[in-house]
Amino acid sequence: MPTDSRVYSYSAVLMGSPILLKLFVHDEALASRVFQLIKRYEDLLTVNRQSSEVMDINHAAGLHPVKVSRPVFELIRCAKAASMLPQSAFNLAIGPLVKRWRIGFKGDEVPPAAEIAALLALTRPQDVILDDAAGSVFLTRPGMELDLGAIAKGYIADRVRDFLRRSGVEEGLINLGGNVLTLGSPVGEWGIGLKKPFAAAQETLGTITVNHQSVVTSGTYERFFEQDGRRYHHLLDSRSGYPLDNELDSVTVVSADSLDGDIWTTLLYGLGVEKGCAALEKRHDLEAIFVTKDRRVVLSSQRNFHFTLQDDSYRLTDRTA
Ligand code: ADP
Ligand code: MG
Repeated sequence: MPTDSRVYSYSAVLMGSPILLKLFVHDEALASRVFQLIKRYEDLLTVNRQSSEVMDINHAAGLHPVKVSRPVFELIRCAKAASMLPQSAFNLAIGPLVKRWRIGFKGDEVPPAAEIAALLALTRPQDVILDDAAGSVFLTRPGMELDLGAIAKGYIADRVRDFLRRSGVEEGLINLGGNVLTLGSPVGEWGIGLKKPFAAAQETLGTITVNHQSVVTSGTYERFFEQDGRRYHHLLDSRSGYPLDNELDSVTVVSADSLDGDIWTTLLYGLGVEKGCAALEKRHDLEAIFVTKDRRVVLSSQRNFHFTLQDDSYRLTDRTA
C-alpha cells in the first residue's frame, strides 16, 4: 500500500458484535459519530432488551398497532416483502421460534415437535399488518414476535455508508460483526477474507476482492449446539421451524446494499446451491459464494468481485458438480 494511504482503524463492541471502521483519515470525532449512529439504530431495532421500537410492537402483539419511526417502518416493510416470497426461508416473524430454540445460549435443546408446530402458527408473516398512512405495525396474534436480528446489521451498515458519504468520506470500510461494507480504496480494491467453516476465527478459505460493495456471510458454524450427535445451528427454516439443513456450510452475498446481502444470505441458504444460482440469474445486482459441506466453493458469477481460493482442501466447482 502506498505510504500516502495510511489506514486508521477504529473499533467498538456494539450489537453484541465487534465493529471495525477503517478510514484513510485520522478522525476520532468522525469514528465516534459512526459508533453513535450504530448505537442509535441498535436502540430502535434490538429484541435482546426489554425496550426498543421493535419490542414495543412485540409487547402489543394481539392487542393494538404501534406507531414507529419511519426507518423502522420501512425496514419492516422490506422484511415482510422478503418473508412473503414463495417458499421463503426468511421470516421477520420468526421470533417465537428463535426464543424457544435458544441456540447458542445457556439451556439450548431441541424443543418437542408439538411445541415447534404450535409456535410455527405464531410466525406467519401475513399476520404482520402494516398501515402506511398511520406508520404503524400490528402483530395480530398474542405471542407473535418480530426478530430483525438477521438484517439489522446490514441495514445499519448501509446507514453508516450513507453517513460517511454525506460527510465527504469516499474511501473506507465498515465491518459490523461480519457484515462488511466497502467504500472506495486508495489502492483501488479491498481484500476480504472468506472464513473457513468450523476452523479458528482467523482462518480463511480465500480472498474476495471488491470495491464499493457489501460482503455478507451467513454460516452455520457461527452459532450452534450439538445433541445426540447432531448439530443444530442458528439459521432456522421458517417453513419447518427447524435449523436449515442442506449441503451448505456458508453463503456469502456480494451486493451494493448490505440489507440485500442479509436477506439473500438467508433466502439462498434456504434454496441451496442449484436453486440459489438459478434464482440469481434474474438478479444482476446480487452474486453469491456458496461453501458446501463436501468442501466445494461455488460462485454464482463474478461480475462485481473476484475470488481467489487459497485453501487446497477445497475446490472451486460449478453449481452441478
Ligand atoms: P449472524 O448474527 O451470525 O450475523 P445472521 O445475520 O445470519 O447471523 O442472522 C441470524 C439471526 O437471524 C438469528 O440469530 C435469528 O435472530 C434470526 N433468524 C434465524 N432464522 C431466521 C429466519 N429464517 N428468518 C429471519 N431471521 C432469522
Ligand atoms: Mg444476516
